[in-house]
Amino acid sequence: MSGIPYITGQDFGERFSQRLSGDRFPLSGQWEITCRCNLRCVMCYTDCFNTPEMIQQELSFPEITRIMDEIQEAGCLELCLTGGEPLARKDFLDIYASAKQKGFLVTVFTNGTLLTEKIADYWRQYPPSMIEISLHGLGKDSFERITQGAGSYARCLAGIRLILERQLPLTLKTTGMTLNQDEVLRIKEYVAGLGREYSAKVQYKFGSDIRPRLDGSEDVYDYQLQAEQVHAIEQADFEFRAERATQHSQMEERVRQGRSLCWGGHRKFHIDAYGQLQLCSNNRRQSYDLRHGSFKEGFYELLPQFPCPARHPEPEPELVSIDEIEKVREPRLTIHD
Ligand code: SF4
Ligand code: SF4
Repeated sequence: MSGIPYITGQDFGERFSQRLSGDRFPLSGQWEITCRCNLRCVMCYTDCFNTPEMIQQELSFPEITRIMDEIQEAGCLELCLTGGEPLARKDFLDIYASAKQKGFLVTVFTNGTLLTEKIADYWRQYPPSMIEISLHGLGKDSFERITQGAGSYARCLAGIRLILERQLPLTLKTTGMTLNQDEVLRIKEYVAGLGREYSAKVQYKFGSDIRPRLDGSEDVYDYQLQAEQVHAIEQADFEFRAERATQHSQMEERVRQGRSLCWGGHRKFHIDAYGQLQLCSNNRRQSYDLRHGSFKEGFYELLPQFPCPARHPEPEPELVSIDEIEKVREPRLTIHD
């Protein structure tokens, strides 16, 4: 529409943040609404909690809506519903509808395999800001070697098509691992082809971060790529190279301006499946129990005291080199549903 300027969500967030100056504000939250999942990906960090005993302890629907009310009242704009596999909750659509009714911009991370016409039609009517689906392999064998779920490749592709047929906003993403490193660029090409086929803008993300499982076990690192292997993939693709260069210059600029490289506990927060409020999904060293306390108290009074070795001491702008930035920045991307 002419006359009305359009800005991306990211730009909006940046501008809004600048207005807030140094004040804390819970602009955006990631909520792991379950550790349930129908798949068992080899590198999954939540899979260890996909057990009946742990599922029993997850937040109920009334608890989720009560916490969501408090988050809304605190002014939060954006919620990302993730898991585990969020669609594995029978009440997923109720949770989603509740978030939309409260006016949040909602992103959903999913493995795509549980998508149905009913969910896709509901999304058509009340669209998410973004749907992110993991596509870790191109071809049944490589895909299912990672997901360990027979039939998951066909179901994932069917889910992707349900989204594309409805022209919903879609990002497909791949975690580069020892098992699929040779496929990443072909997956990217495939995604571009899907976009052309459906005349849709399908975004693509490549990540490489593998993190320990929530129970602390580190066997997942067997699948982690070396930094040189990630670099080689990035260097082979013009868009990846450009994206990396932009990321570097944005971070250098932030450091020069003395701005934080991390929004955890300042603008962003994370809630796990049991109602624990944390700085981010990658830092669960300390938590605030939202079952027994208020979101505002947790966000404004407790999160600021939570430690993160990755960001302390705060960098001195004029002294920080690009190598230092590499040490404190978030890893390239953790891809999760
Ligand atoms: S990575 Fe995602 S899809 Fe795979 S097992 Fe974990 S939650 Fe499920
Ligand atoms: S620096 Fe720490 S709190 Fe911030 S995003 Fe990284 S791990 Fe999370």
